[in-house]
Amino acid sequence: MLRGWGNGLASRDSTRHIGDVALQISQSALAAMIAAAQAAAPCEACGLLLGTGLRIERALPTANVAGDPATHFEIDPAALIAAHRAARDGTGPEVVGYFHSHPNGLARPSATDRQSAARDGRVWAIVANGAITCWSDGPDGFEPLSYAVTQG
Ligand SMILES: [Zn+2]
Repeated sequence: MLRGWGNGLASRDSTRHIGDVALQISQSALAAMIAAAQAAAPCEACGLLLGTGLRIERALPTANVAGDPATHFEIDPAALIAAHRAARDGTGPEVVGYFHSHPNGLARPSATDRQSAARDGRVWAIVANGAITCWSDGPDGFEPLSYAVTQG
């Protein structure tokens, strides 16, 4: 369903031009990601990015069920399945992507992240040092995404 968006996100053109913003994130979603990262430290926080198309309206933190949450994340599968099901049914927002935090401050996808990437075009947001970087999980690997913060 999101494959069309994914193709768009994977395009290098989407981030090349100054002033051309690939993604919109609401201020509340941004704040929720940063708060979740602070609350989870020194473990990694994680959760779902919900919205429409290229607009993230809500960041929903979930439990990190990874066996070693200080260095890995695994989104609570029950929350993950419920969100995808609601999106499919049309009873919930789209799953635009996922977020997690890097307590070690690495502001880009780690080697572990690259191994676990689905390459489905969804957005990955990474919280490090109180700031957020966004990436498209594309067929050729992670591509950086510019974003704008919007009211709401
Ligand atoms: Zn990571």
